[in-house]
Amino acid sequence: MKKAEHILKEYFGYEAFRPNQKNAIEAVLNGRDTFVLMPTGGGKSLCYQIPALLLPGLTIVVSPLIALMKDQVDALRTNGVGAAFLNSSTDYADQLETAQKIKRGEIRLLYVAPERFKSRDAIFQDILSGTAISLFAVDEAHCISHWGHDFRPDYLELSALKKKFPGVPVIALTASADETTRKDITDKLNLEKPLTLISSFNRQNIRYEVRQPSDSFGELLDFLENYRSESGIIYTLKRSSTEELAARLKSHGFNALPYHAGLPPDKRAAYQDLFLKDEVPIMVATIAFGMGIDKSNVRFVVHMNMPKNIESYYQETGRAGRDGLPSTALLFLNYGDLSTLRYFATIEDNPRQTDIMMRKLDLMLAFCEAKTCRREYLMRYFGEEHPSSCGNCDVCLHDYISYDYTIEAQKALSAVARLGQQYGAEIVSLLLRGSKSKKVQFWMRDLKTYGAGSDQSGEFWKEIIYELTTQGYLKREGNPISVFKLTAKSRDILRGEAKFMVRKPRAAVNIQASEAASLSAPRSDKALFQQLRRLRKSIADAESVAPFVVLSDASLHELATYYPQKKADLFSITGFGTKKVETYGQFFLDAIVDYCTENGIKPKPVPEKKKGSYPRSKRPKEAGSTALLSLQLFRAGKSIEEIAEERELKTTTIESHLASFVERGMLEVETFVDPGKMKAIEEAIEQNDSGLMRDIKEALGDDYTYGEIRFVMAALQA
Ligand code: ADP
Ligand code: ZN
Repeated sequence: MKKAEHILKEYFGYEAFRPNQKNAIEAVLNGRDTFVLMPTGGGKSLCYQIPALLLPGLTIVVSPLIALMKDQVDALRTNGVGAAFLNSSTDYADQLETAQKIKRGEIRLLYVAPERFKSRDAIFQDILSGTAISLFAVDEAHCISHWGHDFRPDYLELSALKKKFPGVPVIALTASADETTRKDITDKLNLEKPLTLISSFNRQNIRYEVRQPSDSFGELLDFLENYRSESGIIYTLKRSSTEELAARLKSHGFNALPYHAGLPPDKRAAYQDLFLKDEVPIMVATIAFGMGIDKSNVRFVVHMNMPKNIESYYQETGRAGRDGLPSTALLFLNYGDLSTLRYFATIEDNPRQTDIMMRKLDLMLAFCEAKTCRREYLMRYFGEEHPSSCGNCDVCLHDYISYDYTIEAQKALSAVARLGQQYGAEIVSLLLRGSKSKKVQFWMRDLKTYGAGSDQSGEFWKEIIYELTTQGYLKREGNPISVFKLTAKSRDILRGEAKFMVRKPRAAVNIQASEAASLSAPRSDKALFQQLRRLRKSIADAESVAPFVVLSDASLHELATYYPQKKADLFSITGFGTKKVETYGQFFLDAIVDYCTENGIKPKPVPEKKKGSYPRSKRPKEAGSTALLSLQLFRAGKSIEEIAEERELKTTTIESHLASFVERGMLEVETFVDPGKMKAIEEAIEQNDSGLMRDIKEALGDDYTYGEIRFVMAALQA
């Protein structure tokens, strides 16, 4: 395995393997069939690319996605690895050339589309019979299973591999397979006693957030403001809305393109290309977009509408942050979408299937409505254990206040009752508002609750109704249009025997990207980062490859953090293997050196051995996350002493955790220090020149604690 590690550094410029990569590589090198289940962005490719460089013969990679093949091959070439692809887009001359190169041993990896195995394709057949093959890698292996979500009949050809090539190991890789599909894959591929490697599906760098805005577009604009010039995908439910939204965004100065299956293929390809090449940052798309999008620097995924199930949500949000950098998944919950979603979930003449789809839809809705950790919910859904707070979702990061809405709940419930439990949220809220709309029939206007809630907006009443439903005081019935009915619990509220509490975020605005960034993003030099991005783009254009193929955002951030000045320094930057240092190194160094001279910046020592960027968050007891946990507990109302006891840490440790958030402006110093004491402490800090806490404390005397001093210091830093 020493060799594998060497290759990782030499060719790919990475310091450490991610979970399970090493095991997979080791198994394959030992000739064992292997099954790898890893989330998107988990690093499946290296599991066969590294063996391909170590094994004597050719590695054949089967992939269904033509667009992706080119990027993969480009990426390998920029790392100095001989690779090629054969698919329906390669012309005859290119195919012959590839065959020649293989004969000469210049190609380590050959990417092929599955139908190559079936077609009487002389060139490919010659390659198969005339070349020593060391490994077959079957990417997107779920395509072989009827149970998967993306069955492709051509994949069935691969069943014969183990028979036709006995002794050649097969590695199957996928990001989406439940237990049934998993078994089906190993059966269909005839894998022999495969080593099965299953990675955690937790994508720690993705922040999950659900909002329920009255004006989604306005919120979207606010959100995008934090991601100027960054790449992202915005999903909508309907084709027409992709075009409308893209146009609206454009009129607000955001460069966006639409994408859906109804666009002509050439347009689709062109738009996709513009996105991949960082020419257009935002793609507004239906779910038709994304399969095969390998772009690693997608910083956000927004769902304008709720997806149809958790599986889709996970997969779509998973397209964010493949490079391991902090990214956001934002979902706008809009109850108006439910009827469309129910309609989509209804499968004609198949009540059983419809039932399953409806249940999945309900679980998706429950996710959105949950007031518990989003990540925990997702992980549990996929059968993985997860602690009940992650520190990186809206629920965990928010500060909630409970409001007592018992009176309002009584009004809403009695409106539902008086309407004979026959109407949806719209009518109930119109009734409460005392609306003169035609939708409110005349008999309704005589009801006692008519106008009983005219002091609140229609949105407010709808929210109350939905919240009552979430808490089990109402239930939805009917399909596709739902009506609300009372439940056994409703009476408790109506009789005043139970209180109806609603938890709402303390601040109306949600967590800002800047706050997110200060927690976990690399603190790199923004101006330099932008400059390096432009440089990367011009190199990519010159070589007709996608920018992320040249270098990932993670690499650029490191460059803009350490300001390396010479080639030797570049080897410590993630993503710089020997070949990249040689081909692109000087361009980046020149830009950095110029920048430093112009701005009078001294380079920082580049750490000798940095760990790969991804596992960073996986490492236990990482400083950021432990401080975050203290923050969460504090926001949950625990005192410093209680947190210390619970976490078995010293109170001073907790104080310094919290002080770090005071420093970042996320907590107020007044929370910890009596304003009357502040001035004295500030003066003592300013007058002190030893910089030692002990001296400051001594000057202040016994009325002041170390903790108070620490917090004021942090506030002064801020
Ligand atoms: P997957 O195919 O599982 O979605 P990829 O193989 O495309 O994921 O890897 C995702 C990203 O992570 C790529 O940019 C890849 O170069 C990077 N990567 C993979 N393994 C490592 C590693 N050990 N250290 C750092 N980066 C890695
Ligand atoms: Zn959470």
